[in-house]
Amino acid sequence: MKMLDNFLKKLNKPVPVFAQTKMEKENPTDDAASTKPKTTFEDVAGLEEIKEELFEIVDFMKSPDKYKKMGAKIPKGVLFYGPPGTGKTLLASAVAGETNSSFFNVTGSEFVEKYVGVGAKRVRTLFEKARKEAPSIIFIDEIDAIGAKRHLESNNEKDQTLNQLLVEMDGFTKDSNVIIVGATNRLDLLDEALLRPGRFDRHIHIGSPNYHTRYEILKVHTNNKPIDSSVDLEVLAKKTHGFNGAHLSNIANEAAIFAVRDKSDVITSVHFDKALERVIAGLESKSSVLIEKEKKIVSYHEAGHALVSNLVGLCPIQKISIVPRGQALGYVLQLPDEDRYIYTKDELIGKMKILLAGKASEEIIFNHKSTGAKDDLKKVTDIANQMVCEYGMSNLGFMTIDGNVKSFMSEKIQKEANDIVQTCYKETLELLKNNINDLHVVSKHLFDKETMTHEELKSLITKECVN
Ligand code: ATP
Repeated sequence: MKMLDNFLKKLNKPVPVFAQTKMEKENPTDDAASTKPKTTFEDVAGLEEIKEELFEIVDFMKSPDKYKKMGAKIPKGVLFYGPPGTGKTLLASAVAGETNSSFFNVTGSEFVEKYVGVGAKRVRTLFEKARKEAPSIIFIDEIDAIGAKRHLESNNEKDQTLNQLLVEMDGFTKDSNVIIVGATNRLDLLDEALLRPGRFDRHIHIGSPNYHTRYEILKVHTNNKPIDSSVDLEVLAKKTHGFNGAHLSNIANEAAIFAVRDKSDVITSVHFDKALERVIAGLESKSSVLIEKEKKIVSYHEAGHALVSNLVGLCPIQKISIVPRGQALGYVLQLPDEDRYIYTKDELIGKMKILLAGKASEEIIFNHKSTGAKDDLKKVTDIANQMVCEYGMSNLGFMTIDGNVKSFMSEKIQKEANDIVQTCYKETLELLKNNINDLHVVSKHLFDKETMTHEELKSLITKECVN
């Protein structure tokens, strides 16, 4: 079973994306070959404040005299930090495209070597080339691989590589016209020396896109595609809370592939729905057929999730399925109507009940405990622990519990978390027992038809669908 939260966690794994940036490799075989990207800020949807900030650098590179006259120094380095797939590489290549600069796109791990001095030499070579081909942008993705905090017992090779990077950045003259852009998902790991002014002068956070940005990203990635009038990008943007740019461009691409497969001239909303499901839940596994007994268990498990989800009413259900996808034997596809950043205690408890409902349903019908609830229980445990240790939502009081205190109090924490989960579980069992006929009906429909839409669920159950 994969509920929305699992999906979004899962989505943080890199998703294959067909490159949308317009780049021309000059010499791909060269170690530190540059490209001349054709990407511009127009290719980067949303992120207006970030583009504005970068526009200053672009302006500086295009007309340095204007700034020099005022005694202003060009920033040497810009550091992008934030979750993966949010457009850091795209922005860096857009700065290169806007300034017609050579773009050196490297990854921190490329400099990590076993032999002392090799990484440092690579850094030296890279900067030499960048100076020669200036104006240049050097983009170092995963800069934490070489720029992590140094310790007393540090690795000599890594230290030398980082030192070389610092030396190169210090060696920039005001006329170098080379900008270094670093990207990391973990700003907290970086060595102070890299972050101080004069090196990475600007730190720019690039977070997960909000509704507006998701809409803009979808527009960028569909504007060269034959989109049918049935496709409503606003609705799609609403449904994709928690998705990053990479996921959205992937959805647009997958929808196009589904349209080709259907021999359709246009990409319809059906293709987008299929693409969304595929990106969220993985490939439909046509070969793994459930044996009759397991199919029945999965039907009740998913029916339990769907019923309780409907009764709790946190997030609208789009589809319920027992067709295996990826590693899931079944799933309830729930997509939010709006971006949510804050949850109340009641809502967290509601979430836990939805997650526990698969297990509860199996217990009521088969009187067993199965392995099918493993993922759900992990999620529930995380929420309960967070409620106790981070949100002050337990009898232990309004405080955060971490570090040494956490190990000191581990027994009490476990007891509190367990009490919360047990109470939720009992209430979930009650909910399902009170709606046992609906549970049988929904489960039977799933067993026979294997999938169910929100409308079908609505027509089958006696309690009105909350959403
Ligand atoms: P990572 O940290 O994993 O390297 P990243 O932040 O560098 O990720 P990008 O490689 O820039 O992410 O983005 C991946 C793809 O997502 C881009 O090629 C592009 O197709 C799409 N994308 C991301 N953000 C945007 C955006 N704001 N506008 C348009 N497309 C975007």
